[in-house]
Amino acid sequence: MNLLNLPTFKVTDMKQNEYGDYQISVTTISPPEMCPYCGCISNLYKWGIKKQLFMDTPMYGKRVALLVNRQRYKCKECNSTFLELLHDMVLKNAYGVGYRYHKTIILF
Ligand SMILES: [Zn+2]
Repeated sequence: MNLLNLPTFKVTDMKQNEYGDYQISVTTISPPEMCPYCGCISNLYKWGIKKQLFMDTPMYGKRVALLVNRQRYKCKECNSTFLELLHDMVLKNAYGVGYRYHKTIILF
């Protein structure tokens, strides 16, 4: 079940706190095709997970936080490490606040 209109994410967990605010955990389902630094295709391997929290559009008057588990990759060719891109989000400022291109669609 995908609660969010985010085609490159998969919802892995969803919970509410005592105020009714939602925290939705997601992982991406579209691994990078190549190293963004040197362009090589086959020499990437996984290099840990970074969790990032984004505030989303409120639903039912409750706050919605998206906890994104971003995969970090390392390139064997050039030794660069990089986080996978989040195609459904655009980062807005330095405080981790994200605004999405997509309109949230609730499928309860
Ligand atoms: Zn590379």
